[in-house]
Amino acid sequence: MTNRIARKQWGASTECIWGGEPEHKPLGATMMPIFQGATFAYETLEEWRAVGAGEQSGHIYNRNTNPTVAVFEQKVAALEGAQAATSFSSGMAAISNTLFALLKSGSRVVTVRDIYGGSNLVFSEFLPRFGVDVVFCDTDDEAAIRKAIAAGCDLLYLETPTNPTLKVLDIQALTSLAHDAGAVVVVDNSLAGPLNQRPLQLGADIVVYSAAKSLGGHADVMGGVMCGDRQRVEQVFHFREINGACLEPMSAYLLMRGMQTLELRNSRQNDSAMRIAGFLESHPLVERVFYPGLACHPGAAIALRQMSGFGGVLSFSLLGGYESVRIVLESLQLAHLAASFGSVSTHAGAPCTTSHIEMSAAERTAAGIPESLIRYSVGIEDVTDLIEDLAMALDRVSAAIPKSA
Ligand SMILES: *Cc1c(COP(=O)(O)O)cnc(C)c1O
Repeated sequence: MTNRIARKQWGASTECIWGGEPEHKPLGATMMPIFQGATFAYETLEEWRAVGAGEQSGHIYNRNTNPTVAVFEQKVAALEGAQAATSFSSGMAAISNTLFALLKSGSRVVTVRDIYGGSNLVFSEFLPRFGVDVVFCDTDDEAAIRKAIAAGCDLLYLETPTNPTLKVLDIQALTSLAHDAGAVVVVDNSLAGPLNQRPLQLGADIVVYSAAKSLGGHADVMGGVMCGDRQRVEQVFHFREINGACLEPMSAYLLMRGMQTLELRNSRQNDSAMRIAGFLESHPLVERVFYPGLACHPGAAIALRQMSGFGGVLSFSLLGGYESVRIVLESLQLAHLAASFGSVSTHAGAPCTTSHIEMSAAERTAAGIPESLIRYSVGIEDVTDLIEDLAMALDRVSAAIPKSA
């Protein structure tokens, strides 16, 4: 299947629909069919051999490649402006396969403390067993990150904005330093998503995603993807095809179906999150709102430079501590009390139930995550309904804990 190569630059929404799609799909299909099956058959041994040897295009076995999965990968690469992409069974598979494929014993990694909990464990629990040296810097201390990179760095691993307090790192500045040190730069862009932030354009080498978040957008499918230059993608693909964390064809189909509306969902979620952040900021029970689109956010200036939208995830801390959090979360009618973000439906939770469940209360406090924090991932519902729902839930706190109001 040939790709749509000769084309002009498209807008984001057109790219979401047509980007990476083959010119002609099998039997005139308009949606890429789901090639469900573990293996592919050949009529002649010579053809089978040639495909297996990579001399001819085709597919042999789903752990290696699959036509539906391949279109998903092309679609992400097109959106990201990357040479190539390869996919995985989950975001953590994308992250761990990328790291294990690129690092070796003696490699030195620089990263920050506020990265996703699972990624943190790959760096703190597993990679050191194989002789990889990992330096965790304080996310707020750019001078410390710069110093750690300058002291020797083979791989810089960034996540921005971070979860759950939406700290912002300067991708361009840190990437440039890391390149001076000879490092490869990997950015987990799951929270911002490909339309709000383009790490490759800011100089990064590799972008990784949990596709279960905004790419899929409906909280109904797991998947992961990494993209970058062809050579590194090949290197990571080879590790994955042998180690086996492949994306299922049905999952690839669901992800592509979701991606077609990414731009619509993304604009709605950006706008709604901004309005909700403004509402919360002026509410007497809210202690602090964490959203990079707010002028008071410490990373606002960098965010304005490197993001074209601030995303659908925000968090806020409440007066009245954990009890207020419990009342608000259990009162919300238009939010799933559930992990994850980036879905069409609003999700809300507390760090002690979602992103930082592995940490103790003391560790969360030390990491700057208040126990009175709520993470709120805005869906595509009408924003007036969401604000009304939040106002109602906050009123219950005022009623239950009158002194804090
Ligand atoms: C969810 C998430 C991951 C992990 O992805 P899974 O698909 O759950 O394995 C990694 N990084 C970030 C920023 C995430 O939000």
